[in-house]
Amino acid sequence: MHSVSLIAPGKINLDLEIIGDRPDGYHSLIMILQSIKLADKILLHPNGTDLLRVTCHHREVPSNQDNLAYKAAALMQKEFPSLGANYGGLDIIIEKHLPVAAGLAGGSADAAAVLVGINLMWDLGLTQPEIEELAAKFGSDIPFCVGGGTAIATGRGEKLDSITPLDHLWLVLAKYRSITVSTPWAYKTYRSVFGHTYINEPASLASPTAHIHSRPLVKAIQQKNAAEIGKLLHNDLEKVVLPEFPKINQLRETCQNAGGLGTMMSGSGPSVFTLCASETEAEAIQQQVRAKIPDPDLELWVTQLCSHGIQVISHPKH
Ligand code: ATP
Repeated sequence: MHSVSLIAPGKINLDLEIIGDRPDGYHSLIMILQSIKLADKILLHPNGTDLLRVTCHHREVPSNQDNLAYKAAALMQKEFPSLGANYGGLDIIIEKHLPVAAGLAGGSADAAAVLVGINLMWDLGLTQPEIEELAAKFGSDIPFCVGGGTAIATGRGEKLDSITPLDHLWLVLAKYRSITVSTPWAYKTYRSVFGHTYINEPASLASPTAHIHSRPLVKAIQQKNAAEIGKLLHNDLEKVVLPEFPKINQLRETCQNAGGLGTMMSGSGPSVFTLCASETEAEAIQQQVRAKIPDPDLELWVTQLCSHGIQVISHPKH
């Protein structure tokens, strides 16, 4: 068995709408998810033992069974026990480039890379939908991270419908290193404040998703209308996160005032992004935001949207 190296891109939400509660306790969502070029690198290496071991030098990322990449490998061993026993353990080496706990699905991307990598290493021949089905067993963002690109996600985020991939736009990502927002807290608070607006009948839950392709943002994406896409960015979780975290709110305003096509918080935050028409524009906005907020706690990145999910960069058999 050979080693495999993979690229695991992060994601932003161009749209995040909370529709209601589901009988399984999750929220029913409509999201438009978009891969970005900023990515982790994952190396899977047979270690000659029967153990799974994770190495990641980022201090906020667990190197034990709590790591989502570990959980993905353990899931594969459970689903395919005889192959797992036959091929033995793996070292999972995570080179972290994606900011952690940032609403960019870093952990989910790493887990998706492990599923794709083990599929190759064990010659399983699973198709992308089959890998996505396995991914849905332990995380709502993981199925999207497998194929990536641009997709409408419904259900709890695991039902995917790929649309015209957007890869011509750039973005500035901004995040305070020391601020973390708990995703469960954000959804729980949203429920307590906006729960009265929820659609809870199982039959009615289907109706907002019925005409999803005729939504203005989906049409703008299909027409690659950058100005419209920028205007139509939306995230319901801003309604609870921004009032609670004034620094994120102020960062969002600073980014928005610096220009670009549109600014929005990604997922449950704390990352904020400004969509830009070009790399030059993104770099100019990055500089302006840095000049307005010279706080060393503020991290900024310029990256591009991308049209793919997990990519295999080296696998000697192929
Ligand atoms: P979510 O929205 O699911 O909370 P996120 O995209 O905001 O995720 P992640 O970077 O995935 O944030 O990290 C969330 C938490 O998951 C971190 O606090 C970290 O301790 C834990 N974690 C587990 N495995 C990983 C991993 N491989 N990479 C990053 N974080 C991980």
